[in-house]
Parts: sequence; C-alpha cells; structure tokens
Amino acid sequence: MIKLSSIEKQFDGNPVLKNINLTINEGSVTALIGPSGSGKSTLLRCINLLEIPQAGELTIGNEHLSFSGSQRVSRKDIRRICQQTGMVFQNFQLFPHLTVIENIMEGLVTVHKQRPAQARERAEELLKKVGMIHKRDAWPATLSGGQQQRVAIARALAPSPKVLLCDEPTSALDPELSLEVVAVLKDLAKEGMTMLMATHDLRLAANIANHVVFLEAGEIVETGTSRDLFTRAEKPRTKAFISTLT
Ligand code: ADP
Ligand code: MG
Repeated sequence: MIKLSSIEKQFDGNPVLKNINLTINEGSVTALIGPSGSGKSTLLRCINLLEIPQAGELTIGNEHLSFSGSQRVSRKDIRRICQQTGMVFQNFQLFPHLTVIENIMEGLVTVHKQRPAQARERAEELLKKVGMIHKRDAWPATLSGGQQQRVAIARALAPSPKVLLCDEPTSALDPELSLEVVAVLKDLAKEGMTMLMATHDLRLAANIANHVVFLEAGEIVETGTSRDLFTRAEKPRTKAFISTLT
C-alpha cells in the first residue's frame, strides 16, 4: 500500500531522515515512536509531501514518485500523492471561522469539487461515525480538545484517503479526553483503515498498532510487531527508549 525507499531529507544541509525504508500494508496500523527531534513529524510530512525529500522513492497505492534533489516536484505530482492521504495534527488545526460541518465540507467542495449537498451528506455520515453529529453547527472553539480532534479525524477521512497519517493525535489532550480519540482511532483500525501514527502514547500504540517503528536521529533503528517491540526489543536503544514511555 505504502512504500518508502531510501528516503533522504535534509534541512539546510542537516540530515533529518537518513535512508528510510518502510513498507506499510493495506489495513495495518503502524505506530512511529522515537525521541523528540528524531524525525517522526518530518517522516509523516514527507509522505503527504508537506515536505519534499531530496532522494528516494514513494509509492502510495498506484501512485509513485521518485525524488532527486536537482529536480523539482511538480504541483500536479504533489496533488496526486497528497490526495491519497489524510492528516491529523497534534493541535487539531480546525478552521476557527467555520462550523464543525463546514470544516469537513470545505475541502470536499473546494478541492474535490463536490456539490455542497453531496459534501454535506458525506460530512454528516462522518460526524455520526466519530460521535459528533450533535455538534454539527457548533464553532470549534466551543468544543473540548477531544471533540475537536474527533472532528479533525472526520475531516481527514472525508475524501476517502488511502492512508490516515496522525501526528501525535492525543498529545495535546488530558488522559480522559485522549481516551475518546483513542476509541475513534481504534474503530477505524477495526474497519481496516490503513494508518501511520507518530505517538508517545503507549496506550495508543500498544492498543491499536500492529506494527511499531522506532526512529532515532533520523534512522529506523528497529521495527517489529507491537507485541514483540514492546516486550522484547532487540536493540538496546529501542529498549532504553521504550522504558521511558508511560
Ligand atoms: P519529531 O517529530 O520526531 O519530534 P521532527 O520531524 O519535528 O521530529 O524534527 C526532526 C528534526 O528536524 C529536528 O532537529 C528539527 O529541528 C528539524 N526540523 C524539522 N522541521 C524543520 C524545518 N522546517 N526546518 C528546519 N529544521 C527542521
Ligand atoms: Mg513531531
């Protein structure tokens, strides 16, 4: 479903991702763990092309793209790849001047050229799925963090992406509110949504992910099933990091 081969990303000459090779199977959930600054967000952003890698190859479904530092990636290529992905951010990033339902309809109407009636129907379907239909006409600022994140998940899912990328989806939430977001993500996982999520939340990772990737200083140190990695990691660096998670 998703394949990254030999991905390299530098910022001002500093390598941030080094020779990243990663395959994500359809319907699987992969947790991306690692210390702050290890490159988790950058890796997610390289998959939806919010950042452009300098080298390597990216495949999402039937879409394929090669990067070469000297060659610019066209807007058309960015759109083609980006449309395969949905992204959920740590701080929700809802549009404050749009109501809950408008937040979800916006991209469907402006980017995907759906008719408003069709977009509204899709938005309502997703709001029901994340348990937020009763807030459809509310302003984002009036919602709890957990509610905002559930709306953000609905928005990310609206165009039916091939993969949902989540960057620390519960990190800004109190434990109690994070539970409701974990529950929504768990339901999606059960339904077979392919997901890649950067997280410090052991409960989220152990509860939902089939696979865990440990990233340190821009390199994949170890990958494994979540069961193996959390209970019997092979590399000392992985073990040391996992012991810091709570
Ligand atoms: P993580 O999400 O694991 O905390 P990040 O991907 O945010 O790590 O950052 C990895 C490294 O890349 C850090 O050293 C960070 O300072 C650097 N970095 C991230 N984004 C940029 C940017 N836009 N410009 C320059 N450096 C960046
Ligand atoms: Mg990050």
